[in-house]
Amino acid sequence: MDDTSARERLETMLADLDRSIGVLQGDPAAVREYSAADAGSDLTDADRAQAMLTVATAQRHAVVAALKRLDEGSYGSCVDCGKPVPEGRLEARPEAARCVQCQGKRERRR
Ligand SMILES: [Zn+2]
Repeated sequence: MDDTSARERLETMLADLDRSIGVLQGDPAAVREYSAADAGSDLTDADRAQAMLTVATAQRHAVVAALKRLDEGSYGSCVDCGKPVPEGRLEARPEAARCVQCQGKRERRR
């Protein structure tokens, strides 16, 4: 994936996230449209909206950071080990900051 299409995808993601975050903040009940799948759980709309806001906000940070790496010319390199992040991984998750190994290490640490 070249930088131009990466940037386009990241900017689209950012716009979608901003829209979702705006909706979630303004109207917790609107979360039902986004999470019909777990409608059976006993979380309240407000709890669910809060959980989704947390996820959306974290993802927004990742997307903004990826755009910054594009500006700096370091996009596509793992922020931990500096090795190239595999193309397939960037296709699936353009905001990915780490190679699979470093991401795995990071997630195990939590
Ligand atoms: Zn790495």
